[in-house]
This record gives sequence, structure tokens and C-alpha cells, in this order.
Amino acid sequence: MKTQKLVIIYILTLAASALLVGLSWSMNQKILNASAIEIARVKGQSAFQLLQTIRSWSARHGGAYVPVTENSRPNPYLHTDDRDIVDSSGRRLTKINPAYMTRQISELLQGGDIEAGMTSLRPINPINKPTEWERQAMIKFETQHLSELVELIDDRYRYIAPLYVEPACLKCHTQQGYKVGDVRGAMHINFPTSQIDVLVDKQKQMSNRAHLIAFVAITLTGLLMIPLVMHLLKRIQQGSEQREELERRARYDQLTGVLNRSNVLEYLHNEFQQAARQQQPFSLIMVDLDYFKTINDTYGHRAGDKVLRCTAEMIHSQLRENDQIGRYGGEEFCILLPDTNLDSALAVAERIRSLIEHSEISTRLHPSIRTTVSVGVAELSQSDCSDSKMLIELADQALYLAKNRGRNRVCSQLDLKTN
Ligand code: GH3
Ligand code: MG
Ligand code: MG
Repeated sequence: MKTQKLVIIYILTLAASALLVGLSWSMNQKILNASAIEIARVKGQSAFQLLQTIRSWSARHGGAYVPVTENSRPNPYLHTDDRDIVDSSGRRLTKINPAYMTRQISELLQGGDIEAGMTSLRPINPINKPTEWERQAMIKFETQHLSELVELIDDRYRYIAPLYVEPACLKCHTQQGYKVGDVRGAMHINFPTSQIDVLVDKQKQMSNRAHLIAFVAITLTGLLMIPLVMHLLKRIQQGSEQREELERRARYDQLTGVLNRSNVLEYLHNEFQQAARQQQPFSLIMVDLDYFKTINDTYGHRAGDKVLRCTAEMIHSQLRENDQIGRYGGEEFCILLPDTNLDSALAVAERIRSLIEHSEISTRLHPSIRTTVSVGVAELSQSDCSDSKMLIELADQALYLAKNRGRNRVCSQLDLKTN
């Protein structure tokens, strides 16, 4: 049961380790996905700043004149008197303001890796009408004062940041009611995920490999450790069984299974102290087999051992749960009867004596061995014993009186007085 418990704990520990590897892997994936978005943000921000610088340059100069061509037609949304001019050589020139320039740049970028464009909540040119995501982003810029947003939508990283009204912008945009510092619109930049995924995927592959190796290593180590752990558990169990056996031997008499001499004396000392303190009756019975040497001599030592074992069993059968029996000497037993006065102890002693007298002990070779015991009884409250040794002495004296009076009888401390 104990081993089963430990095996379950061991398996749970392995499962917990595997779970930790799984959690680590999942966190790693999240970190790498977040770092992909961060790379996209930095990339988008660089492109935004570059375009913004070009737009500022244009705004600072109030736009730039270029020859009117197929690709640079006059801007129909630019309402200034100086939009179209003719230079000294008669060439027609038209003004490219920052918005027109941005549109032209975004047209050039169209289809390339990076795409960019302008948008506004109130666009002058309908081509700059925002998508829903761009509209939401611009609302956030106005209400939550966010400085940028980046998201992964339809396999493209999309970066957007607000364009603020600068003094130079008012030349063209006063009629829209803008003030310096207002969010006038936003510039969006987007590029395919593949550019960043190439970087992140490599790290993801490394992370997958490292976690797989960790998982396999833990599982294999676990599997290899199982026999070792089982062996150790077995050794621990054997050790504890051996310890229990040694403890049992230290406490009990090997032949009869009752308490051994040192242990029964320890019990006697404690019971004596407790009874004396609480002024409770406490009786001690000493039992000695009669002519046991003759039994050994007649039937052999092994039969003698059997007689000792059976005698201990017969004595035990006459005791209560709280009584104790110990082997005091070779063929001498000591019985502790807590909370028992002399009369009751004498009755117990007589029952034991009578039972043994009327019993037959059989061995393989000798079917009917009979024996008797002499018994000495002493009771604490009817004595002037001040320690347990004196009580043993008293019971011993009663026992020897029983021997002297012819054996197979019970004597007590009272008989010593009348002797
Ligand atoms: P008494 O009636 O006066 O008590 O006589 P007794 O023969 O019983 O007493 P004695 O002290 O002369 O002999 C005790 C014998 O008990 C001697 C010893 O060999 C034997 N004995 C002691 N321990 C054991 C044991 O563990 N097994 C066996 N078989 N005999 C033992
Ligand atoms: Mg004897
Ligand atoms: Mg003896």
C-alpha cells in the first residue's frame, strides 16, 4: 500500500514535469508571437518615420513643382491659385503637395513588399477613405491618444500611426476646420507576414526542438528510473520490516511470544508508579513451573520448549486486555494485573493453576505431558512496598512458600505472615 502510494506520487511527479514542459513551450510560443508583432511595429514605425520626414520636407516648402505628365496630372483636390504654373521655358508645371506626394509614393510602392497610404476620417480625396480597421484606429488616436497600432490581419502586418496638423498643413487644410495638433488622418503601412515569420519561425523551430528534447529526456529518465525507484522502495520496505522485526525481538520473548524480562520489568515499574500515585490496587503474580527440569530430562528440551509455549498461552487465556504477561526467567512468568485487588488476583492465579494442572500438552512424540505450577501473588495496597522490586520480592517469597508447601498451589503475601 505504502509502495503503491509512492509509485503514484512518482508518476504524478513525472506528469507534473511533462505539464511544466508543455506550459513552458506554450509560453515560449506566445513570447515569440509577441516578438513578431514587436518586430512588425518597429518595421512599420521606421517606414512611417521615413515617409513622414519626406512629407514634412514637402510641407515645409509648400509643395514642389513637377512637369505635368501622364503620372503627374494637376491635383483636382488642391485649391490654390498657384497650383499650375509655366516656367520661363514654357513648360507646364503643377504643384505636388504632401498628400499628393504620399499618394504617388504609395502608388510606386503598390505590389511591392511594403505598401503605404494615407487615410482620414474626413478625406478630401475619396481614395483616402478609411477601411473599418483604419477608422477604428483613428477614433482610438483621437479618443485614447494612442501613438500607433499594429495588428496581424489577413496574413499582413498592418501598422498605422496618426498624422497631426502642423502649421504648414494649414495652407491647404484650413477649410476643413483643423487646428494645429489635431489628428488630421493617419498613415498606414502594411507588409506580408512572411518577412517576419522567416525570423520567428526559426526561433519557434528551435524552441519546439528544445522542448521536445526536454520532454523525451524527462520521460526516458522517468522510465529508466522506475526500476531503480522500485528497487529502492523494496529496500526501504525490507529495511522497515527488518527494523520492526528487531524491535519486536527487543520487546518480546522469542520462544513464547510474551514480553521479555527487561520489557515486563519496565511495564511493572510504570504500572507500579501509576497505581501508587493514584492509590489504585495493583497485583503481581509470579508463576513457576514445577519440576520443569524433570520434564526436560524426561521428554527432551524441545518438548520442554513446547510446554513453556503452551503454559504462556494458557496463562494468557485467563487475562484481561489490560493485563500483561512476561517471561521473567527460564520457566518463570510474571503477570501484571492493574486495578486488581488481592482477592481478584488470587482468583486469577487459582484459575491459571487449575487450568494448567488439568491440561495435557502433546508433542509429536509425547501425546500427553502434564505439568503443574506454583504461584505467588502480591498486591501493592496491602503491602509496604515502596518500589516495584520490593513487590517482585514479595511475590517471589509467596511463590517459594508455595514450592515449600508442596508445589501446585497458590500463596500470597498473607500466607507469608501466617507462615
Ligand atoms: P522447581 O519445581 O523447584 O521450580 O524445579 P525446577 O526443575 O522447575 O527448577 P530448576 O530451576 O531446577 O530447573 C529449571 C529448568 O528450566 C532448568 C533449565 O534447563 C530449564 N529451562 C530454562 N529455560 C529453558 C528453556 O528455554 N527451554 C527449556 N526446554 N528449558 C529451559
Ligand atoms: Mg521451576
Ligand atoms: Mg525457576
